[in-house]
Amino acid sequence: MIESQSAWAVIAKDPELILWGSHDGYDDEINEYYTYDSQVGNYRNVQVGDLVFVKGSEHLLGFGQIESIISEPGEKVLRKCPKCGGSPEMRTVKSPKWRCTRGCKYEFSDAELVFETINVIKFKASYRNTWTDANFPLAKANVFEFQSNRDTQSAIRPLELSRVPELIMALAGSSDLPMGSISEIPDLIIGGHRIQIGKRRIGQQEFRLSLIGFHGEKCLISGAQPACVLEASHIRKFADHESHAVDGGLLLRRDFHTLFDRYLLRINPETWKVETAPQIHKYPTYGSVHLQQLEIETQRRPSADLLAEHFEKSKLIFAA
Ligand SMILES: [Zn+2]
Repeated sequence: MIESQSAWAVIAKDPELILWGSHDGYDDEINEYYTYDSQVGNYRNVQVGDLVFVKGSEHLLGFGQIESIISEPGEKVLRKCPKCGGSPEMRTVKSPKWRCTRGCKYEFSDAELVFETINVIKFKASYRNTWTDANFPLAKANVFEFQSNRDTQSAIRPLELSRVPELIMALAGSSDLPMGSISEIPDLIIGGHRIQIGKRRIGQQEFRLSLIGFHGEKCLISGAQPACVLEASHIRKFADHESHAVDGGLLLRRDFHTLFDRYLLRINPETWKVETAPQIHKYPTYGSVHLQQLEIETQRRPSADLLAEHFEKSKLIFAA
């Protein structure tokens, strides 16, 4: 048991970078480590053994226990208002592109932007062995009630330690973690109850939580399933289109997801029936879902256009 353990809610993006709009979003390694610097409030208080709950742009993505913290000197480039030195926000629609967020509200273009490089200490807190994916789509705003203060600004905010077990239970969804392990938080994770995940884009986890929020704990094909076996499948390969729209995804049990990605299983967007490739009909589970009618309300259906695209690509496999 670790003494004086703390728990923190951290944001997966540097809020200043969000403000600047200059960051493309997720750190792909956020399920392994969190980086911050000495400009961030609470940076001195984060310790090995602490629990870190990582928030994405919409949901709490998961949590881990800090196994190590390394630090090194580094630099940080700040963008500043040319009039008052305040931090400007980037505007995507209006021009000029920048506007000061301080009282002066000065609006200006790239040419006038002032850069200042400052020395900072950079930190990397690792928790790769203890990271646990959230199964329940807890909205980022709801994490606020688990904080031990009313801070709405800092990237690293303290959580009320006595309420952490409740938070963990909420994130576990209905596939509850064993109650007995809740009494000792550090052991909960180290003791082997974590849910194994592969290295995965955090956007993917966010997408999965959106789908669970939209459809409930339900595989499109096999019906009610514990969230921990449900995965978000992009109907079209994510790299090709970079969209996390809910109708572009299927919530599928892990095995069905694999088959779908390999074009051994498809959804016919005209009949809304499942079709499995002849090669896998010999496996009872997959043979029996062939030509199964999907029970899904019209307004919850995934995009028929995307399914048609996938269907077209699967033809080669089905004919093999
Ligand atoms: Zn200003």
